[in-house]
Amino acid sequence: MNKRKVSLLLSLLLVLGMFLFGCESNIDFLDEDDGNNLLVNFIDVGQGDSTLIEFPNGETCLIDGGPRSSSEDLIDFLKTKKIEKIDYLIGTHPHEDHIGGLPEVLKNFKVEKVYLPNKTANTVIFEDLLKEIKKNDLKIIVGKSGLNIADKDGIKFDIIAPNNENYSNTNNYSIVTKIVYKDFSLLVTGDAERESELEMVEKGYDLKSKVLKVGHHGSSTSSTSEFLEKVNPDYSIISLGKDNSYGHPHKEAIERLEQINTKILRTDELGTIVIKTDGENIEILNKIENDKTVLEGKYFIGNKNTKVFHSKDCNSLPNKENQITFKSEEEALKEGYKPHGKCIK
Ligand SMILES: [Zn+2]
Ligand SMILES: [Zn+2]
Repeated sequence: MNKRKVSLLLSLLLVLGMFLFGCESNIDFLDEDDGNNLLVNFIDVGQGDSTLIEFPNGETCLIDGGPRSSSEDLIDFLKTKKIEKIDYLIGTHPHEDHIGGLPEVLKNFKVEKVYLPNKTANTVIFEDLLKEIKKNDLKIIVGKSGLNIADKDGIKFDIIAPNNENYSNTNNYSIVTKIVYKDFSLLVTGDAERESELEMVEKGYDLKSKVLKVGHHGSSTSSTSEFLEKVNPDYSIISLGKDNSYGHPHKEAIERLEQINTKILRTDELGTIVIKTDGENIEILNKIENDKTVLEGKYFIGNKNTKVFHSKDCNSLPNKENQITFKSEEEALKEGYKPHGKCIK
């Protein structure tokens, strides 16, 4: 073998080794990207809201930035994800638990467009937000129902509330957005309460959504049955802090959610919740102690010791430390794992 062939062989072995090593560690579904996936990150910001959406075309949207106290965590999260710019920045309404982290976001990332409702607040944080928007030479786009944010590359992104100019309650000014990607749909409602929810129902918007970001951290003043029946989500995400002083989520809201048979996922219990979809299938992942756990979606679990793989619902799964996750049977077979006769047909 000549020198060139040897070095070629060595590099091939190196690449193969890296590949095998990579597969043996925890499979990280989020890193592989074929340009077809939409990701929704419900970021754990304690008592507050912050949702990062990564579109298949590479664009990003940040809806709310959590309270100021967790802005450092938020910036870390966005930097870890290697977010370079935010194409659409939405502050649903001028409450601190939603806009508190946004000044820091504007300081750290290039922002293309900013959306705020037509509602001001006499607060330091709101003034800070306006200052940063000005510094960045951005014009505020007033978010109200009927406004289309994007309609391209298979994504439809619309604002469906607020539907009025005057509310006595600031929460009802919340910008409510609906994102549709093939069969997948997401509704993010900020802190919109009963009044705004009923307006959306009355206006006849197509509210049906696969995933609902539950209004106002699971407060009883949101999530009316009339609204929930129209949205009819498979998954309902509640963003809130552990042992918060508001008593969120309220038991009335939880009961109404249970009545529509939706799966409730909470950031106070799970930390950051990530939904990944190709427009048809959904994977729900979360981060607990830096270990990604797949909560939903089709996947298989292998036993690193016995090299046998199981369906995720099998009742003879290996201990957690011996588990390896595969996205498909083919992947498991390719890695030399054999199917468990009882659970894989
Ligand atoms: Zn709030
Ligand atoms: Zn609020």
